Amino acid sequence: MTPFTLPDFQQLQQLIQSRTTADVEQALNSKHPTIHDLAALISPAAEPMLPEMARRSALLTAQRFGKTTQLYAPIYLSNYCTNRCAYCGFSASNRIARRCLTLDEAEAEAEILHGRGFQHILLVSGEAENAVDVEYLEAIALRLRGRFAAVSIEVQPLSTAHYARLFKAGITAVAVYQETYDPEMYKQVHLSGKKADYHYRLETPARVAAAGMREVGIGALLGLTDWRAEGLALGLHLAWLRKNFWSTGVTVSFPRLRPAAGAFEPLVPVSEQNLSQLIFSLRLFDPDVGLLLSTREEARYRDGMLGLGPTRYSAGSCTAPGGYSHPEQTDGEQFSVGDERSVEEVILAIAAKGFDPVSKDWDSAFQS
Ligand code: SF4
Repeated sequence: MTPFTLPDFQQLQQLIQSRTTADVEQALNSKHPTIHDLAALISPAAEPMLPEMARRSALLTAQRFGKTTQLYAPIYLSNYCTNRCAYCGFSASNRIARRCLTLDEAEAEAEILHGRGFQHILLVSGEAENAVDVEYLEAIALRLRGRFAAVSIEVQPLSTAHYARLFKAGITAVAVYQETYDPEMYKQVHLSGKKADYHYRLETPARVAAAGMREVGIGALLGLTDWRAEGLALGLHLAWLRKNFWSTGVTVSFPRLRPAAGAFEPLVPVSEQNLSQLIFSLRLFDPDVGLLLSTREEARYRDGMLGLGPTRYSAGSCTAPGGYSHPEQTDGEQFSVGDERSVEEVILAIAAKGFDPVSKDWDSAFQS
């Protein structure tokens, strides 16, 4: 299989900027949108048609996913990291309180989330193999196995053999975001550590899928460079994964930069309108793709986007290791969240819009 490669980032930008109103109309009417259609939907020429894009995106989302919103919560296992990423609170350059949960502590965090009704958890860590290695992840997976419908990880890139081992232990999905598909910007913000290898990271989703994982999550950190070109690169990556690994589900995330230790400021602002255009475009491009909207975004925006394209929301999230057991300790978090509501409040907001959070345990969680 030929590895995934991208055209020159500037070429992507040029393709987008050359799209016209007629191209957008054609894209909107296309039954099987191409990458050129995606370029049109993401382009400035599509901005006046955003309400129509929202309408069609909502229609497709309802057809494919019904009136449901899947909920998940992250568990931060460790904030040790050997990389220096300019935008991240966990960067090795930042002087923050560091800790790695013991297996018992990780299980206690999971128990709290289980008690709140979560059936889907995401195990997150900084990238430091001496703190979180495959044995540690395997041991946690084996402890949690059978208690959750889905246990995903977002940790350092691993080998195909290690992913296969974790799948066997009960991990069902892996999220690995490229952060930016622009190689030049990638170099500028990944200052040192293994993550500085752009190509190794780019090839990671393929290793995840080759290992037989049920799902792989890709994404770009919005605010580093031209969001439109990042969106087109995401579309190309998504289409390549679909073509080569038809049995692995793919999700896409759109994390916008949030305040974090190190006080990194977004280099290119991305407005809520921009984010919405990107989400609608990807839904129209691939009606079956899972689209995630995390608590990085504010409650008002997340509520407004319900049913319009995203299919999975995080809720009640804490981004510091041990944060559910010790909510008073905020030192050592990766970033400050935008939606600070409790999971019960998020459920109420979802229900008020006529949607159901997907989990068989929600009723009992709600009543307890
Ligand atoms: S983004 Fe990931 S790899 Fe980079 S510093 Fe943060 S935790 Fe480490």
